[in-house]
Amino acid sequence: MAIIGIDLGTTNSLVTVWKDGASELIPNAFGEVLTPSVVSIDENGGVYVGKIARERLISHPENTASVFKRFMGTDKVYHLAERDYTPQELSAYVLKKLKEDAEKYLQETVTEAVISVPAYFNNAQRDATKQAGVLAGFKVDRIINEPSAAALACQQLYPEEDVMEMVFDFGGGTLDVSVVDCFDNVINVVSVSGDNHLGGYDFDMAMAKYFCEKQKIDYRELSRNERAAIIKSAELCKQELSTAEHSDMVVNYNGEKKELTFDTEKMIEASAGIFQRMLKPIKQALIGGDVTMDDIRRIILVGGSCKMPSVRLYLQHFLKKEVVFLGSPDTIVALGAGTYAGIKERKAEIKDMLLTDVCPFTLGVDIVGGSLSPIIERNNALPVSRSGIYQTVSDGQEELHFHIYQGEAPVASHNVLLGEIKLPVPKAPKGVEKADIRFTYDINGILEVDAKVLSTDETAHLVIVDEKNHMSEQQVNEALSSMQALKQHPRDKEENAYLISRCESLYALAGIQLREFLLHELEIFQYWLDRQDEMKIKKARNRFKTVLDLVEDKMKVFNMEDEFESFSAGWYKEAKKEELDLDMEDEWDEEELKDWFKEGHMTS
Ligand code: ADP
Ligand code: MG
Repeated sequence: MAIIGIDLGTTNSLVTVWKDGASELIPNAFGEVLTPSVVSIDENGGVYVGKIARERLISHPENTASVFKRFMGTDKVYHLAERDYTPQELSAYVLKKLKEDAEKYLQETVTEAVISVPAYFNNAQRDATKQAGVLAGFKVDRIINEPSAAALACQQLYPEEDVMEMVFDFGGGTLDVSVVDCFDNVINVVSVSGDNHLGGYDFDMAMAKYFCEKQKIDYRELSRNERAAIIKSAELCKQELSTAEHSDMVVNYNGEKKELTFDTEKMIEASAGIFQRMLKPIKQALIGGDVTMDDIRRIILVGGSCKMPSVRLYLQHFLKKEVVFLGSPDTIVALGAGTYAGIKERKAEIKDMLLTDVCPFTLGVDIVGGSLSPIIERNNALPVSRSGIYQTVSDGQEELHFHIYQGEAPVASHNVLLGEIKLPVPKAPKGVEKADIRFTYDINGILEVDAKVLSTDETAHLVIVDEKNHMSEQQVNEALSSMQALKQHPRDKEENAYLISRCESLYALAGIQLREFLLHELEIFQYWLDRQDEMKIKKARNRFKTVLDLVEDKMKVFNMEDEFESFSAGWYKEAKKEELDLDMEDEWDEEELKDWFKEGHMTS
């Protein structure tokens, strides 16, 4: 019985199967391989999925849902035709449709699937994806990261030994950047990064708003139907610009035909912010993998938005590296998922490639002061097992109590809470009783926590499985909404909050050593904030700001973006003119950073 591969996309979904030595795309009832990830319900409770549903986005927007992958694993509810639907349920309808198409095509029942997800999906999101599979009637054999799937497909199509490559996956709703190392028969994801709120849809929105502005239409006043129609024509206009010099965006508004001609420059002007945001995940992936652009042999372009010539030019202009554009970029992930399904079936003709993944996020526990103490750092190869020693913090403490978190925020509670663990300890002066906490994380996203009190050998064990996450959906949602509440702490005066979030975003980009340093500085600042003495806070703020400026300067994290801002749409003209200069400046020189630490900046 065949295992199928599925790319469950934000915008489009695809299904593949390994057949006769190759991964094969399975067409839907329209003979197309892309099925829009859109679900619509009619008055009688009938469900439409795909192309028809996408049309109903305009005719029946109130009964139609799209882009729900963005909300997988959250408490978002879609109210369609008098019933509530979770993002999991809506995804399940899409999966069910793909399953039917595959069964029709293969003339057999299909019960197993490999489903791809963005690499930075957290446990709740992976769990939600598996739940969707179960609802659709699948045994979800394996969840694989989209960049691993893309790299696998690329290796099958264009085998290259010993290459380090970057997978730039720019779809409809997400941007996923990964550094991948291929050697022998191993595909190793070195680091992953992304922005799950950046994709082709943002271009559509930006162009729609630009259109309204030029036509003196108040976008906020528009009905859902009107908005959907304008966004739809913006998308068509954008897609046409991928192959034409000009494209007319036409909208019927209040019985009037409104028209605006776009060329690439105007499109870039409308969406300048989007281009700007593309660089951050690239930098983050390079820093996370401890590599520079010089180490990258090829950039594999994946996702429908990479069909835009301006995106390709932009990457070439800023990365000074040739980009690889393989066939149809929006089918690569699905082809990889199908290849992986073949490997799972142990088909003889397939080269038995080993996929290794990395842990896409940091896993740790909360410690005194509310900081996150990482046990498994982000970007560790999987499976991984690491432990840390933690001690009591008050005299006569009778219990060690840890919350387990996943995420990159230095303040523990700003991350996703996965569970908690408690251990009784004998009464003793603070710091005497110690426990060893071991995290073991495997390729399927199962986290095992083993805790042991050193003096008594008392143990506690917890398995956090993404399928049967021991937290109920409600608990996850509660945690998420309480995180929202935390962000609006009244104590957070604007400047202070700004510095903290600056520190947090630097932290998210930083390597281990720099993270410790930033965490230390953040603790000092928070200490003074807690004292609530305005004078002291002012002093601490100056110190904190100086430190952040220094770190930022060293990391040059925002340089490219500043540069971008100074000439806005001008980059496009330059990019078209310039010769490719392959000497990429080494921007985050590790040695320089080490010297900086040696100079004594670590001491406070
Ligand atoms: P996802 O992975 O999010 O499901 P896809 O990889 O299918 O998405 O990409 C969908 C996005 O690609 C949409 O925003 C769509 O408008 C865009 N797209 C598809 N074809 C083109 C094209 N020819 N030119 C520009 N954008 C395109
Ligand atoms: Mg995709």
